[in-house]
Amino acid sequence: MGKGVYTFGGNRNEGGAAMRNLLGGKGCNLAEMAGLGIPVPPGFTLTTEQCNAYYTNGRQLVNELKAEVMDALRWLEGARGCGFGSTENPLLLSVRSGARVSMPGMMDTVLNLGLNDKTVLALEKASGNPRFAWDSYRRFITMYSNVVLGVEHALFEAELERTKERLGKHLDTDLSAEDWKVLVSAFKDIVFEESGHPFPLDPMDQLWGAIRAVFESWNTGRAITYRRLHRIPDDWGTGVNVQSMVFGNMGEDCGTGVAFTRDPSTGERLFYGEYLINAQGEDVVAGIRTPQPITRSQAEGTGLKSLEEVMPDSFRELDATCQRLETHFKDMQDIEFTIERGKLYLLQTRNGKRTAMAGIRIAIDLVDEGLIDSKTALKRIDADSLSQLLAPVFDPREKDRLRKEGKLLTKGLNAGPGAATGLIALTAAQAEKMAQEGPVVLVRVETSPEDISGMIASQGILTARGGMTSHAAVVARGMGKPCVCGASAVQIDLARGIVRVGEKELKAGQDWISMDGSTGEVFVGKLSAHPSEVNQVLVDGRLKAEDSELYQRFAKIMAWSHAAKRLKVRTNADTPHDAAVARAFGAEGIGLCRTEHMFFEGDRIIAVREMILATDIEGRRKALAKLLPMQREDFEGIFTAMNGLPVNIRLLDPPLHEFLPQDEPGQKEMAEVLGVDLGTVERRVAQLHEFNPMMGHRGCRLGITFPEIIRMQVRAIAEAALNVAAKGITAVPEIMVPLIGTVRELAYTKTEMLDEIAQVNKERGTQFACPMGTMIEIPRAAITSDKIAAEAEFFSFGTNDLTQMGFGFSRDDAGSFLPEYVGKKILEDDPFQSLDQEGIGELVRISCEKGRATRPGIKLGVCGEHGGDPRSVGFFHRVGLDYVSCSPYRVPIATLAAAQAALEQ
Ligand code: PEP
Ligand code: MG
Repeated sequence: MGKGVYTFGGNRNEGGAAMRNLLGGKGCNLAEMAGLGIPVPPGFTLTTEQCNAYYTNGRQLVNELKAEVMDALRWLEGARGCGFGSTENPLLLSVRSGARVSMPGMMDTVLNLGLNDKTVLALEKASGNPRFAWDSYRRFITMYSNVVLGVEHALFEAELERTKERLGKHLDTDLSAEDWKVLVSAFKDIVFEESGHPFPLDPMDQLWGAIRAVFESWNTGRAITYRRLHRIPDDWGTGVNVQSMVFGNMGEDCGTGVAFTRDPSTGERLFYGEYLINAQGEDVVAGIRTPQPITRSQAEGTGLKSLEEVMPDSFRELDATCQRLETHFKDMQDIEFTIERGKLYLLQTRNGKRTAMAGIRIAIDLVDEGLIDSKTALKRIDADSLSQLLAPVFDPREKDRLRKEGKLLTKGLNAGPGAATGLIALTAAQAEKMAQEGPVVLVRVETSPEDISGMIASQGILTARGGMTSHAAVVARGMGKPCVCGASAVQIDLARGIVRVGEKELKAGQDWISMDGSTGEVFVGKLSAHPSEVNQVLVDGRLKAEDSELYQRFAKIMAWSHAAKRLKVRTNADTPHDAAVARAFGAEGIGLCRTEHMFFEGDRIIAVREMILATDIEGRRKALAKLLPMQREDFEGIFTAMNGLPVNIRLLDPPLHEFLPQDEPGQKEMAEVLGVDLGTVERRVAQLHEFNPMMGHRGCRLGITFPEIIRMQVRAIAEAALNVAAKGITAVPEIMVPLIGTVRELAYTKTEMLDEIAQVNKERGTQFACPMGTMIEIPRAAITSDKIAAEAEFFSFGTNDLTQMGFGFSRDDAGSFLPEYVGKKILEDDPFQSLDQEGIGELVRISCEKGRATRPGIKLGVCGEHGGDPRSVGFFHRVGLDYVSCSPYRVPIATLAAAQAALEQ
């Protein structure tokens, strides 16, 4: 292994932004900033490789690494002109994690490392501020004991509360140096009692302990959960940043804060952030004290004092530095800073997390400002996050009504946009449990990284404390969840399971709340959500395009995507309405119209059941004759909605038993409606019963045994196309046969279809014809695609069934073990959500190759759920499909993903 430790700042800056994988995001950007001449307290980074080595070495720090750390430490002492453990002029350190991508709050940090009973006296002397020195020491003991020794934080909190009560003091700031001294001693007792060892006073022991703890924090439950959620590989590892301390808590001329170069919720270009006077970094992010705004305009009307007013010089320098960093990194920056006795230091910069709305706005604005081009902008937007733009919002009139009825519970910060309604849950565990029954909103004083699973399970998150950069806000934004935080009127009584706001009391598990993460409002009761602005413009026409900036930005991203992509994007739609919605979202055709869904509409099911009960072909034909006009009308509607665009219609696919009632009351009712006795119905249900219906009498097998069914469907398609053509509409049907395994199945089915079309043409004196092709959803079909292509004019990969049949996993039952497969890393992902590129993808690739060998230019598409999954779309682009097809609301996501795939190449 190469070098394990890289220094930054001072006179030895060994890293830079290009070394992200090795140094982690925090480490590489600290070096980058130092290289730009921005004031960064010097320090050094242990590489992410060392994290992996730590685990392969049986969780030990090896001597080579220790020697490199010692060398860097000696350099750092020289750079800062002080000594680690010195009783004259002690060097104090922060030890912080830093992975390749930021994982906010997921890993641990220790500040003020190097303090002990002797160095604290030197700090007292050097700072001339005994209170500060002892406050720092007790913070260090708390943090170190919690992070490294595993002592519960609450024990220290309780001791602090007891002491304050005893002394009759309310705020931490009321405590004197003497008070903190007493607490330091009490804290050490707690450590001894809890861990069985005295608190480590040797600074070197402290340092090794903290480094080890950061490596260990890579594998805490919460970090693993976060990685799963954001698809971060486990073997990336974290770096460890050991940095000389600067203090934001030395007095009133000190402070610490976080800032964004643009608003992370809306993307608006305004300098934005929060800070605390006389505080240490963790106070801001942990959401323990609600912080103050940075700019004057942000502070307006809040009664709070901005940094701009309180420390105008530091503010100006901060503002200029942040703008410089944004221009340098060409993206919105999220910055941590500390002001020590009026001098500004930057502790971190990274590309800031943002909502989907903000992401789009920032990308477009950066293009307009000339910092990036539109291709870079497209690559930066998380395709999946577009779903947030289409997510429902509350109806403003309904909100007005609730306000008038006095049901506005409270208002907090609008930390994560979107509408959420659910029953109140007060703990993460409760939220997870309740979410199995219905929607929940997690209500907490503040969230901590332990709450992550509960946050995932909830519709939205409401916190009483913490600002826009608190854990809840950052994590919720990353998940695309609605979040309202800092709703300080909310009081939580965990013991009684109650949320109190003024006079109002709401019960967890019983009462509903609705929160609007875009405005920060929280209402009592259930509010129905209503379509997003994009939908209002595109789908129901309630809003004009020129009145919605959000829509205009969405449209711009879509236009750029359409220009950049090669893949066509079609939609899976079975109704004229869905077809129209998808078309409004930019769908370029229908890739799958599942005809069986039409059989359930209105009272068609009666005719369907009549057909199934029929004992001979005559009886079936009679029932099918009733279905013909309805099916024809459906197709006319869809052809009209898609005028000029291809419409791929799949013949009947599911096993017939799916159309029969399986329970007795349903069967009784069916017998009555059809005028037959119950026994007849029961017998037919029993006859149709299959042990493996998914591998049973379904798909093309139905048409082979009951050709009259598909003849009716084909006739409906042909007649509908001819009927709408007479009205000037261009119908472009394609007929698709499901579940083909061998070419002869397709050849047989085609003979029936062509014969029926010939009859229609004869009756009408027309020359209707349309492409006929097949789904590829059985492995045998995939590997004999050269043969099948002789009969098929197109293939559409049914990757749902192809995954089912390829893995031998039941689509309907695999949920019982797949999560464990993913958890145990037997599979990277649920293969029904994201295509298994190695196996099922290989079947797709082979099929494409063989299909093209027989029929060059054969049209190839995909209509399984994977057609709307960005990573799978990337794969389909690479194997050279012509189109992907997905549900209407995923069309924009697939469109952007297709553009990104084209730009990646
Ligand atoms: C498929 O199998 O991928 C497919 C699209 O068909 P269905 O989901 O209707 O079985
Ligand atoms: Mg299928």
